Amino acid sequence: MNPYDEINLKLAEASQYITNSVSDGNLEMITTPWREIVVSCPIKMDNGNTKVFTGYRIQHNAVRGPYKGGVRYHPGATQNEVKALSSLMTWKTALVDIPFGGAKGGIQVSPSKLSKSELLNLTKRYTLSIDKFLGPNTDIPSPDLGTNSQTMAWMMDAYGSVHGYTPAIVTGKPVELGGSIGRDSATGRGVVYIIDEICNKFNLEPNNNSLVIQGFGQVGRWIAKIAYDNKYKIIAVSDVSGAIHNNNGINIDELIKHYDSNKTFDDYKNVNFITNYELLNLKCDFLVPAAIERVININNANDIKCKYVIEAANHPVTPEADEILQSKNIDVFPDTLVNSGGVIVSYFEWIQNLYQHHWEIERVNSELKKIITKAFEEVYEKSNTKKINYRLSALSIGLDRVIHTANLRGYL
Ligand code: GLU
Repeated sequence: MNPYDEINLKLAEASQYITNSVSDGNLEMITTPWREIVVSCPIKMDNGNTKVFTGYRIQHNAVRGPYKGGVRYHPGATQNEVKALSSLMTWKTALVDIPFGGAKGGIQVSPSKLSKSELLNLTKRYTLSIDKFLGPNTDIPSPDLGTNSQTMAWMMDAYGSVHGYTPAIVTGKPVELGGSIGRDSATGRGVVYIIDEICNKFNLEPNNNSLVIQGFGQVGRWIAKIAYDNKYKIIAVSDVSGAIHNNNGINIDELIKHYDSNKTFDDYKNVNFITNYELLNLKCDFLVPAAIERVININNANDIKCKYVIEAANHPVTPEADEILQSKNIDVFPDTLVNSGGVIVSYFEWIQNLYQHHWEIERVNSELKKIITKAFEEVYEKSNTKKINYRLSALSIGLDRVIHTANLRGYL
């Protein structure tokens, strides 16, 4: 099954638990992207040769507001993958009830293999190929895997060269260009707020609970840092090249210093070096995949030994693995809830840009906490009353909101 079919399979299942009535045709309309843009992006490489990259922007649904979602630079960013991720954005923004639809963009490229000027040219070419379909009230991109605040600064500049100064065109910008304070840490902070809520519900103490985190990028390292500050025991972390493990806990402040100066975990003291595969199989309380999709799948789901899977990445668990985990009584807290902190603070950034205003960090974090905690409560409550898992609960809440709005607008 491809990733888009996997998401639609879960949506069809979730549609059994919604309160609005929906026919098969309605469901098809809601799960089909409204617009799929494919562009060729030729750029001159530093060696003088021209290379053509393929870019996508999939605008999945805008019933509840402008399309919203990241742009990823990754070799695996195929049209189907980007479609799946665009759909998740629709259900994520609906679940946390912010006034956006869902979209995702991508370029099939390994960003680490391009120089800074090649990346700048690629970003500008991509933006100017899709700019007619973007706008602060139309579609607002943000960073995702392989992109960052620098990429957003380039996108804002390219868009502005045609349409005039428009900071609200992208979120996740550098603060100096109108970005929101706290946006860089928002996804990771939201993940830790969710883990805190789980601890509250199940009477768990942070210092008795261990975390294994896959990924040490924009999301993973913030989860590690904030969870460590909140006294959770981080027993393993990984990046693309491998993982480190110590059952007594890793000092994340020291690790970040080491990682920043060496760009690798190599030579870090008092840890075992293990593979990414072994990392996922470690015995722990919270297993937090915070890297790429489909890492927990039919091949390894039986070996997972955690109590809770916390989906900080988008779509890290395949439907087959979902079933295996459920049969092992491992609760999965789904991506649309867990990693929604990023798009929630993107929403705050967009508001600040529209009003030419700046919020303090305390306001950003407390409003984030309010929104994500409310969503957690709703997901938890519906899961208990309907006796369904957290993924079906989260998706069905999002579906209900989208269908209700589509009805009001006269679409269904
Ligand atoms: N790329 C992030 C996500 O998958 C953030 C999206 C946004 O801020 O628009 O949720």
